[in-house]
Amino acid sequence: MAKYIFVTGGVTSSLGKGIIAASVAKLLQARGFSVTIQKFDPYINVDPGTLNPYEHGECYVTDDGAETDLDLGHYERFLNIPTSQANNVTTGRIYQTVINKEREGAFLGKTVQIIPHITDEIKRRMLLISNTGEYDIVITEIGGTVGDIESLPYIESIRQLRWEMGTDNCLTIHLTLVPYLSAAGELKTKPTQHSVKELLSAGVQPDILVCRTEHPLTQAIRRKLSLFCNLAPSAVIEARDAASIYDVPILMLKEKLDLTVISMLRLADRMEPDLKKWKSFLGHMKNPVNEIKIGLVGKYIELQDAYKSILEAFVHAGVANECKVHIVSIASEQITSQNVAKSLKHLNGILVAPGFGERGVEGKIQAIKYARENNLPFFGICLGMQCAVVEYARNVLGLKKAASTEMDEKTKFPVIALMDDQKGINKKGGTMRLGAYPCTLEKGSKIEEIYQTAQIQERHRHRFEFNNDYLDAFREAGMHPVGVNPNSSLVEVVEIPEHRWFVGVQFHPEYKSTVENPHPLFVSFVHECMK
Ligand code: GLN
Repeated sequence: MAKYIFVTGGVTSSLGKGIIAASVAKLLQARGFSVTIQKFDPYINVDPGTLNPYEHGECYVTDDGAETDLDLGHYERFLNIPTSQANNVTTGRIYQTVINKEREGAFLGKTVQIIPHITDEIKRRMLLISNTGEYDIVITEIGGTVGDIESLPYIESIRQLRWEMGTDNCLTIHLTLVPYLSAAGELKTKPTQHSVKELLSAGVQPDILVCRTEHPLTQAIRRKLSLFCNLAPSAVIEARDAASIYDVPILMLKEKLDLTVISMLRLADRMEPDLKKWKSFLGHMKNPVNEIKIGLVGKYIELQDAYKSILEAFVHAGVANECKVHIVSIASEQITSQNVAKSLKHLNGILVAPGFGERGVEGKIQAIKYARENNLPFFGICLGMQCAVVEYARNVLGLKKAASTEMDEKTKFPVIALMDDQKGINKKGGTMRLGAYPCTLEKGSKIEEIYQTAQIQERHRHRFEFNNDYLDAFREAGMHPVGVNPNSSLVEVVEIPEHRWFVGVQFHPEYKSTVENPHPLFVSFVHECMK
């Protein structure tokens, strides 16, 4: 049976529960345990696919086509193993399942209630992931903050599971904030005490406290927290603000968080943690030999989390090239034909980001035109690739006002259009082309050289596609469709062989970049931008 580690948060949101969960998982994995992480999000949306990126940041996509919270991206980047639909569950999905069962009559006339029906479904989902028997340890992160009305059923489920599984088989890590009052020159433990009381009133005693702090936790503070929160001083862990999320596993190692977990769960110790690759990654990250500036042209640039996986993929690719990649955020809405040169000429390359809807699209097209005409390395992802196709149609093929039908339904030249199987769909949730699809790369193309193979699988999240009616026209004019889905003939990659690095991909390579396996497309793009 797998052992469970529940991770809850207190005092405020945004303390980095996902990073702490991923760091614990990384340390246990480095000691030879097989670990997975799941996240429960207390909101009513069935999945985050319908959420605006301004709400919770990027929507992450798994191989099996689940639209998930961005923390799953951290899990994959840290652990280097893929996640799936079972790794992310929302309150909306829990209720949907219970209500569907009620409609089927599955509850045999009983009153359906939060306890036991909702909590049973939560526990079922928590345990489901370990059914395969492949994991020694499951880390279950509860989104939100203890004390929120929405998170109560989850805390209650943890309380029940602690009884059912026994305290040797599960434990709770509570992440809190220990603020520093500069006027008093002191760290304050009261918010943490209150947050632990809140957990206790729901029947859950945290086993380990991880304390986010700007200053070192003194022995006195550790003792005080231990006394008021009923745990050993060794179970009070300091989590100092780190320069990079990738430092956090090492900080947790220094605090012996892994050893505390191993001893509390009575796990037989496997081996000293093997973090050779991780540490070498950190070494290269901190000592870059080169520096470049890449423009990220998008419409959600005010919020860094909106392009989380892209930013992290650049960190990985930078390390692979011993190069510090500075990302310059550029609001696509503000780019015009007059200011485009001024905005882009100091850059070593541009990436045009994914997105939905009309806002900022014309600016993206201007940026692409500049990159194409000035031989500036260009990387387009999803909408970024679609904009590159539109730009080429308008300015090289001479198809005036060519467009994607997403932006102009009545365009005379629909070079990007809705797939047939998308036409009848009017429900928005979970209906895009989602998850991993195969793609065959053309022999001798740049993309094949980059991947070093002709058969790839990448993840998708979109409704619109390259319109194959224009296939020949594009190839003749110099933009080559060099990656095609072998089953549906959909175009997944375009490139301009004449240009030094001009690649547009319909899929999202950023989702598959990890610390141990930086994505080849990002690595190659950064390499080119360094020249
Ligand atoms: N809006 C485009 C589509 O649906 C692109 C989506 C994206 O960039 N993820 O096809």
